[in-house]
Amino acid sequence: MELAKAEIIRIATEFNIKFIRLQFVDIVGRVKNIAIPVKQLKKALNGEVIFDATSIDGFNDIDNSEYYLIPDINTFVVLPWRTAKARVARLICDIYTLEKKPFDGCSRYTLKKVLREAEQLGYMMNAGVELEFFLFLTNQKDCPTINTNDRAGYFDMSTSDVGDDARREMVLALEQIGFEVESSHHEVAEGQHEIRFRYSDALDMADKIVTFRTVVKSIAKNYGLHATFMPKPISGIDGSGMHTHQSLFKNNNSNAFWDARAPMELSDDALYYIGGLLKHAKAITAITNSTVNSYKRLVPGYDAPIYIAWSSKNRGAFIRVPEKKELSTRIELRSPDAACNPYLALAVMLRAGLEGIKKKLTPPEPINTNVYSFTDEEKKAKGIEMLPLSIGEALGHLESDEIIKNAIGFYISEQFISLKKREWSDYLATVHHWERDYYISKY
Ligand code: GLN
Ligand code: MG
Ligand code: MG
Ligand code: MG
Repeated sequence: MELAKAEIIRIATEFNIKFIRLQFVDIVGRVKNIAIPVKQLKKALNGEVIFDATSIDGFNDIDNSEYYLIPDINTFVVLPWRTAKARVARLICDIYTLEKKPFDGCSRYTLKKVLREAEQLGYMMNAGVELEFFLFLTNQKDCPTINTNDRAGYFDMSTSDVGDDARREMVLALEQIGFEVESSHHEVAEGQHEIRFRYSDALDMADKIVTFRTVVKSIAKNYGLHATFMPKPISGIDGSGMHTHQSLFKNNNSNAFWDARAPMELSDDALYYIGGLLKHAKAITAITNSTVNSYKRLVPGYDAPIYIAWSSKNRGAFIRVPEKKELSTRIELRSPDAACNPYLALAVMLRAGLEGIKKKLTPPEPINTNVYSFTDEEKKAKGIEMLPLSIGEALGHLESDEIIKNAIGFYISEQFISLKKREWSDYLATVHHWERDYYISKY
């Protein structure tokens, strides 16, 4: 047995760990896990644990429904919110078929494939995210409501706020499991918060995003709160985004996006990367904004993007270029939300950017004035199009974008599109509050 595996077994004994959660995500990015008693740890580390995926979304459409969970030993952490009596650790796993081949439905493997493609071109992707979420009160039956317990707003400091207490504990828990938390603050809406942590390589970032969602939800629960990453829980106030900062580094650890002598200090690679994101924006939106609800966030007035344009300052833009330079030169994609599958989201963003580099797609001039003030003719002249208005529209773009479909592979794209089309047609067939309110007395 490798040294690292032996070390994990030693830590498990020393920390009195009783269970190990073997964690992965389904195709739409929900976290799944099976818990094994610590006695099975050696077997798990040797990649001998099999699970039955019959009722997991997107895993069940083939003859074979049993898979191996192959843990990535770098992801071993002791979870901070269990008592010393019954400590739990977790390992993030890749999914393999019974023939011990990577399973085409494994999102983590899909991201790794695109990262390998980048590597072959001499690049490594760094990513950082700003995760926003709401903390809602729960009712007597422990179900989430849409009531918040605070009346605070952007950057407010409220001393009597249980949300603030919960957020502080979330930060501590995240630090305990290896996150370098940089800041946290109250967001614009009542009950809305944001926690930022240090950027990392893309695979580690995707792992961190799923872990983050689990930690935040678990700790909120201890405070009688429900944490949600739903993109737009309440109409008329801000939604929650997952702005994604990204850059490519070269093998020598220099930032491929930085060129001291270029305008805005953006290298050709950075410009082409932006060109690729703009070109494939509509298709990648199906992955980065993957729910019916996502598109209710992408509306005017709440700091979320509507138009496919880039800017050095405009925060309403799809892509913004933050001020920081040299190692920190990066672009910020502002459309994603945290209800996405982060493995697939990072895979399609990177793939679109690489396509831009390969094809030398020069983006149009950045738009540094308010796009909303443009007339339709001006927008047309500048080639500014809108992001898709619904998941239905976005799925149509994904279906016809071979580059992006290839990035997530045939199997995942088929499964993803069919699952999401079902969600969309379900929604379309439902009569909503708005319709009743609007029409019932009119007609
Ligand atoms: N909540 C906004 C969004 O949906 C972002 C607000 C901000 O962080 N400036 O993207
Ligand atoms: Mg924010
Ligand atoms: Mg959610
Ligand atoms: Mg931002």
